[in-house]
Amino acid sequence: MILYQLRCSDGHEFEAWFRDAATYDKQSARHDVTCPICGTDEVSKAPMAPRLSKGAAKQSPKETHSQKMAERIFQAAEKMRKHVEENCEYVGQRFSEEARRIHYGESEERGIYGEATDREAAELSDEGVEVHQVPWIQRRND
Ligand SMILES: [Zn+2]
Repeated sequence: MILYQLRCSDGHEFEAWFRDAATYDKQSARHDVTCPICGTDEVSKAPMAPRLSKGAAKQSPKETHSQKMAERIFQAAEKMRKHVEENCEYVGQRFSEEARRIHYGESEERGIYGEATDREAAELSDEGVEVHQVPWIQRRND
């Protein structure tokens, strides 16, 4: 395995593992190597890895790490959002009313999602209604 310090056309720097140098060349030629921050496939090997640089690195490894973490959290939230959107019915502001109706058997049992204030969510869970708050992140391409 080989670790490359990569940089995209927007100047984002990130690290990626490859089986070997040839694998990197092949994936790069197929535009399979993309920037985890902006998604572009215009990625090239950074001239020098910061950890090998003698001078002060422009971007510390810690920043790179937290960017990676942020991206991972973002992807997890996106995945959750997609799952909810595909499997649940959107009821908007009527969320707490509808959740209660389902709980008490007045409405068809199904997964729903919508908006609720913190207070409404607290009231629902006091009544034993199962409510999850999901981190809703704005879609990138909106
Ligand atoms: Zn980028």
